[in-house]
Amino acid sequence: MKASDKSNILRQLPQVEEVLQSPQVSGIGALLPHSVLSDCARAAVDAARKTILDGSTQEVDTTAIADDTCVRALATLRPSLRRVINATGVVVHTNLGRSPLAEEAIAAVTEAARSYSTLEYNTGKMARGSRHEHIEHLICALTGAEAAIAVNNNAAAVMMVLTEFAAGHEAVVSRGELVEIGGSFRIPDIMAQSNARMVEVGTTNKTHAADYERAVTPETAMFLKVHTSNYRVVGFTESVSAADMRKIADAENARRKDAGDTGRILVFEDLGSGALVHLGGSGVFSEPTVGESLRAGCDLVSFSGDKLLGGPQAGIVIGSAELISRLKKNPLARALRLDKMTLAALEATLRLYLDPETVCEKVPTLHMLTESADKVQARAEALAKQLHRYIKAREAHIDVIDEVARAGGGSLPMTDIPTSCVRLQFVKGAAQDCEEYLVQQSKVPIIARIKNECVMFDARTLSDENLPEICTAVRAYFDTLA
Ligand SMILES: *Cc1c(COP(=O)(O)O)cnc(C)c1O
Repeated sequence: MKASDKSNILRQLPQVEEVLQSPQVSGIGALLPHSVLSDCARAAVDAARKTILDGSTQEVDTTAIADDTCVRALATLRPSLRRVINATGVVVHTNLGRSPLAEEAIAAVTEAARSYSTLEYNTGKMARGSRHEHIEHLICALTGAEAAIAVNNNAAAVMMVLTEFAAGHEAVVSRGELVEIGGSFRIPDIMAQSNARMVEVGTTNKTHAADYERAVTPETAMFLKVHTSNYRVVGFTESVSAADMRKIADAENARRKDAGDTGRILVFEDLGSGALVHLGGSGVFSEPTVGESLRAGCDLVSFSGDKLLGGPQAGIVIGSAELISRLKKNPLARALRLDKMTLAALEATLRLYLDPETVCEKVPTLHMLTESADKVQARAEALAKQLHRYIKAREAHIDVIDEVARAGGGSLPMTDIPTSCVRLQFVKGAAQDCEEYLVQQSKVPIIARIKNECVMFDARTLSDENLPEICTAVRAYFDTLA
């Protein structure tokens, strides 16, 4: 198309004012402020202009521009942070908010949100209290630690520990543990941010105790161990245990003491996922618990609140009373402190761990991880049966297949969790199309898996209430093809 033709078409684009006066847009005028509607109309006109400029449209459709304005305007009325249905089988799904909270935690959050609370008030002393008190004794009871502190998330916890104990000094870390967790949490970046000088030892696949020994200088303040939580280096590999780091640190610390030097080397493990209990006896969930990591020889261990713990977003550090009290005084502890709603959720979640008999039932993340394969299969069969009532054989074939679910959230990377998926093989329509419809058009977005041109709903991360919602949404998809 000639440039002059394009500019002729562009001239036919409506003014924003004209779009606002169209029947569709004026029809929703009462729902939204004028400025929001104007912005949407302008965006719709701009979008139309783009399609003309890139040659994909050759005429101006003012009705379509008005409709587009309405779609944009109505979208602004919808909350942005919404419930979704997780049919991916990834239990701790970072993009989907990781751990749904236990009912007890939800109730505690609601109460803390609605009223004044004892956030920093000690009723026994009738005086100012500390927000740390609500959870510290629980974490200690559950891990065997002497003291604990919780902050905004585990990335924050790691940064705070490095800042307090390694800033201006050297922190030794294995090249096999220089992990990136995603969302720009990279160990070298966190080191730089906290002014610790990172000393890398070993190679990607092998690091020996002697590597740590050789790396020690008078400037060494820390051995950092990072749980390689979202990947495994397999094959010809070796890493150094916390217990071996402890021995090297103790030997050096004894030398320093004799020389009258009070600075010592701390062993700190960033555990990431942080399980408080062993999940099932089958040996598949072989992660060490937080308490075990501490007893293996660490001075400090940090872990997330919303991964395997199944609580709210938080980062917890455990260790000796002396070290934790230094963290409590660090300005970062104030900057990164938990708010009352998170504290309420965390306390309530931790309380559920006091009863090991019921914790896996009550904490949804633990429940999803440990539910028996039979029960998951029964839920998949129930969904398949319901779908059969909604979907015709000339639209899609429906069956239930064995699959593998994942813990996710950088937890248990090598652990295959047996699961069952409902599989839709399309006779009409297509998997990609249906997937897009379920995410973008259905009332509650449904995040499914796609495999071999099939849409799959993993029953391990579904609850029974989700089943009718999925049926309605899939039906609505096939209705769009009619
Ligand atoms: C997940 C993870 C982090 C980050 O924890 P957040 O709570 O998401 O901030 C840090 N280190 C490791 C090893 C992790 O697995």
